[in-house]
Amino acid sequence: MMAASIALRISVVQGDITKQEVDAIVNAANESLLGGGGVDGAIHRAAGPELLAECRALGGCPTGQAKITRGYRLRARHVIHTVGPVWHGGGRNEDALLASCYRRSLEIARDHALASIAFPAISTGVFGYPLARATGIAIETVWQFLAGEPSISQVNFVCFGAETETLYRRELQSRA
Ligand code: ADP
Repeated sequence: MMAASIALRISVVQGDITKQEVDAIVNAANESLLGGGGVDGAIHRAAGPELLAECRALGGCPTGQAKITRGYRLRARHVIHTVGPVWHGGGRNEDALLASCYRRSLEIARDHALASIAFPAISTGVFGYPLARATGIAIETVWQFLAGEPSISQVNFVCFGAETETLYRRELQSRA
């Protein structure tokens, strides 16, 4: 597939992921799926208590995997909860696990016939992943997936701050 046709399906936006009007937003959760700080806390606050109730029934989620729920009071109809790796210096399979988060989230979206999805910068907050490294993995993994999967028409990378946005734009421009 041509690079331009993939780039057209990817947007970099700055803001709060809970405000995104897409079929699914991705939550950077932890293995318990019972809520936390950062983007996880923001999503649970915006979605309301029904989200936590549904998450309780899921029985957690291993690192690198993902599970889907409804979106309740969010504009997005679904939340895909994925568990990014904690950064330990790079020797504990972190890169492959982070790539798996993006891939599994997109596979779940595809399997539920969802066409638009918004990602936060998974693992780059409390989990300590180096931002530039995580950005490269995020763009590369999503790009490869979109190249083989026409049913996903829109992927938004939601950046919480200008530094993150700059890195995403740079990474995207380097391959478009
Ligand atoms: P993790 O535990 O995976 O590191 P965090 O929630 O601590 O998850 O951080 C992941 C990223 O999400 C960070 O870049 C953080 O700045 C960003 N973030 C925090 N709140 C929001 C939000 N409301 N919308 C989008 N991104 C957010």
